[in-house]
Amino acid sequence: MVRKQIAILGGGPAGLAAAESLSSEGHAVTVYEAMPTVARKFLLAGKSGLNITHSEDYERFASRFGTSNARLREALDSFKPSDVRTWATGLGAETFVGSSGRVFPTAMKASPLLRAWLRRLEAQGVKILVRHRWIGFSGDDYVIETPVGTNVIRPDAALLSLGGKSWPRLGSDGRWLPWLRGKGIAVDDFQPANCGFDVDWSEYLRQRFSGEPVKSVTASSLAGTIPGEFVITRHGIEGSLVYAHTAALRESLAAGQAATLHVDLMPGRAQDRVARELGKQDPKASLSNRLRKAVGIDGVKAALVREFAGTTERGDPDQLAGLIKALPIPVQRTRPIAEAISSAGGVKWDEIDRNYMLKALPGLFVAGEMINWEAPTGGYLLTACLATGQAAARGINAWLGRI
Ligand SMILES: Cc1cc2nc3c(=O)[nH]c(=O)nc-3n(C[C@H](O)[C@H](O)[C@H](O)COP(=O)(O)OP(=O)(O)OC[C@H]3O[C@@H](n4cnc5c(N)ncnc54)[C@H](O)[C@@H]3O)c2cc1C
Repeated sequence: MVRKQIAILGGGPAGLAAAESLSSEGHAVTVYEAMPTVARKFLLAGKSGLNITHSEDYERFASRFGTSNARLREALDSFKPSDVRTWATGLGAETFVGSSGRVFPTAMKASPLLRAWLRRLEAQGVKILVRHRWIGFSGDDYVIETPVGTNVIRPDAALLSLGGKSWPRLGSDGRWLPWLRGKGIAVDDFQPANCGFDVDWSEYLRQRFSGEPVKSVTASSLAGTIPGEFVITRHGIEGSLVYAHTAALRESLAAGQAATLHVDLMPGRAQDRVARELGKQDPKASLSNRLRKAVGIDGVKAALVREFAGTTERGDPDQLAGLIKALPIPVQRTRPIAEAISSAGGVKWDEIDRNYMLKALPGLFVAGEMINWEAPTGGYLLTACLATGQAAARGINAWLGRI
């Protein structure tokens, strides 16, 4: 039997997951990667602790993908967070559950896991060609730019796993959007997801508190009320709690509306109690002293209250308590996509069949962040990239069996 030739364009987690699955079925798999090495974003993700999946209840986990919950469900059902952990363990990377429920390899880094993964792929016969960039179509064929010239390939099936558009210097730069659009595929422009926002801080706050974490708070937007922490930056705000509100804030801004994150600086204490404690203070004392003595607020949290408290709020315990319980931080705009953890936008779900094949281009499949879905940080991104890579591989396998 002649082995089927499969081209995987893009060597990130989604592409490598598909390569692993397809090569185990005996197909001849070649990964074409534009950069000098594969999976650079995966490696970067490991710099701050590789959060590979999440340990929360699976129903809750599967509900983290917003409008894409239903579309991703089948892929996730076949590669659940528990499967991610078993897979990582199989590659010698034991995992543990952190205090927030997030799952990390004990080594925290991505590099040992990636090395073992690449060894497995090599053993299964996967050919990885780095510095091989897909640069578009020539009719139904794929044009690949290589260090020694341009090749045109015609595989039996191909997978696009080109990533989103955040951190473009790591390889996923979204240059492919016009090539797919040229074939009539609807692709939404990429936008930053899991990103920081610009805030017009006073010079004082910017100078004195950039880099300071604001811990043990809750933040509310149209996305709901979420506990966590965030960081004050020179430009505004960032961190996991802000990322959880990205889509809601971004959509308000896109609709030309004001976008405000309401932060409860004392989530454990009722507003009337905060007001009562403040009311006991000497009204002539400084705001800082009243905040510290009445409710123990100091440092960056006190600075935030000062930033938004006008004369009326400062003098009125009820209004000041209201501010502490729902500090309105107006955000001006998202930080640039090049700084974002991930991106929203990409190939629209309507273009893709249940097997991750593009309906208009039989034999061409898509997986990973290049599809239009988004999720907060917490290991959801990598899990869905691995799961869609595997789902596309099953789709390719089934399709090759039919042609
Ligand atoms: C700083 C940072 C930290 C992160 N931390 C986490 C985390 O802890 N947990 C988590 O779940 N997620 C995390 N993520 C997100 C996660 O890394 C991505 O969602 C994931 O890597 C996307 O996988 P992918 O395979 O779809 O795309 P990518 O990883 O972007 O891979 C796409 C590949 O395609 C290649 N490519 C692009 N265009 C071409 C072309 N024309 N021809 C050939 N090759 C091409 C690229 O070079 C790249 O190697 C983090 C991201 C960042 C930036």
